[in-house]
Amino acid sequence: MTQVKIDKIIRSKRKTLSFEITRDAKLIVRAPETIPLDYIEKSVSKKQAWITDKQKLVTEIYSQVRPKEFVHGEGFLYLGQVYGLSVVDNGEPPFKFDGEFHLSRTYLPQAKELFIDWYKKQAYRTIKERVDRYAGVFGFKYNKFSITRAQRRWGSCSSSNNLHFSWRLIMAPLNVIDYVVIHELAHIEEKNHSKRFWNKVRLMFPDFESSLHWLRRNEHLLVI
Ligand SMILES: [Zn+2]
Repeated sequence: MTQVKIDKIIRSKRKTLSFEITRDAKLIVRAPETIPLDYIEKSVSKKQAWITDKQKLVTEIYSQVRPKEFVHGEGFLYLGQVYGLSVVDNGEPPFKFDGEFHLSRTYLPQAKELFIDWYKKQAYRTIKERVDRYAGVFGFKYNKFSITRAQRRWGSCSSSNNLHFSWRLIMAPLNVIDYVVIHELAHIEEKNHSKRFWNKVRLMFPDFESSLHWLRRNEHLLVI
């Protein structure tokens, strides 16, 4: 019936259907437990143009992003800038950053973990500092702060006002981090994306749209 292949159907107690195209251009459908398969297939078939367009776009975007090889001279993003990697023979400590990344050759097999650990530390320090600064300036009280491994969400604010941010965000420029921070702080008062919510964001961060555009255009680069 439908020409688009459904790669995965996730059933839950949700009330509506939703479609997700993953980074490898797979189609995931989230559906209520009670909806029959042929209804899902019909809905997919109706959305076929949107799905194939999105799959094409995702394939184009991600084909430009090569997985990191951790070789001498390779560039890594940090706060929106690209810094080179220097692989050294006897590095102590095995990994450090001083405007350039230095990695000891013997630690090459653990390169990815070392980078991620470092990114997480910087994310915690920098993002927490921005959260506390803006919470102070605008009078927000949050509960807990944490850095997560989230792949698809840059930040989130729970019903009990716990703030979570993906460590990947530390690769983005500071004005983009500030936008995500302000966005989540605004959720402390508005748990939705209503007009009131966006007005609140704009009031605190008038130029938020340029940060939002940067994130939409470049989020596929914030990976390692
Ligand atoms: Zn939001």
